[in-house]
Amino acid sequence: MQPFDIDSLLRFAPPHALCERCCALLTSIPDALPYRCPVCGVMYLPTDDYPTAGHYLEARGLSMALADPVAHAQKLALLARRARASLNGQTTDYPPMRALLEALNTAQRCIHFTTFGISAFLLGALKLAAQRVPVRGIISGIKRDEIYRDLTTHAGDAPLMQTRLFGQDSQWFPHQKIIIIDGLFAFKGSANMTDIGWRKAAQGREHIEVITDMREVAELNNRFFSPVWVGFDRAEQPTEPIIPTSSTYGGV
Ligand SMILES: [Zn+2]
Repeated sequence: MQPFDIDSLLRFAPPHALCERCCALLTSIPDALPYRCPVCGVMYLPTDDYPTAGHYLEARGLSMALADPVAHAQKLALLARRARASLNGQTTDYPPMRALLEALNTAQRCIHFTTFGISAFLLGALKLAAQRVPVRGIISGIKRDEIYRDLTTHAGDAPLMQTRLFGQDSQWFPHQKIIIIDGLFAFKGSANMTDIGWRKAAQGREHIEVITDMREVAELNNRFFSPVWVGFDRAEQPTEPIIPTSSTYGGV
C-alpha cells in the first residue's frame, strides 16, 4: 500500500455553493457581506433572514454540502481511475459510456454540461439523473426535431433539468465539451453528449480526459459553463440571446 499522509485532507476543500445567477462553483464564501460572485459579479447583500451569502444560497437549494464528502470523493476517484485505464487502452471492460453513465448515476448535488448536439439515449440518461439532482446543460446545434420537442414540450418530464439552447446557425456556442459532477469530477474533450461520440472514444477516435483536480474542475465550470449560462463571456463579446427551456421558451 502506498503511504498516505492525512495532512493532504486539509487541502480537500469541496465547493460550498453555486452562484444563484451563473451557477459558478464557489469554493470559499466569506461571512462578510456584501459578497460579489467572482464570475458574474452579482452582489449578495445582507438581510435579517440571511446574514451571509452562504445562508442565502443554502436556503435557495444551492449548497454543495455533501453528507460524506470523503466517501463520495473516493467513489468518484475510483470511477476516474477505471475510466482513465479504459481511455488509455489498458482495459476494455469499462468502456467510456459506462463511465459516463456511472458518473451521472453517482452525482449527489448537480450535473453541469456543455455539448454540441445530444442523442435521445443520453438525454434520457440525463432526465433520469434529473429525477434526483439538478442537471444544467448548454446544448448547441439544436434542430427542430424530436430532441427539440423532447427538450421543450416535454421539459416537465424532469423539472430539475434546465437547459440553454443554441440553434444550428449560432456562432456563439461554446466549443469546449465538459461534464461536471458535483464540482469534484469532470470529463472534458471532444466528445459530445451523443452515443457515437462516447462509443468512438472507446476506439480512440474521440478525445476524452478525466479531471479530478478540483481546481481544474472549478475552472472548467466557471470559465466554460457559467459565463455562457448567464449569456456573456469574459471578453464581454456580444452573445446571442440564450433561450431557456422553461415555460418562457420562445423557440430556437
Ligand atoms: Zn455568479
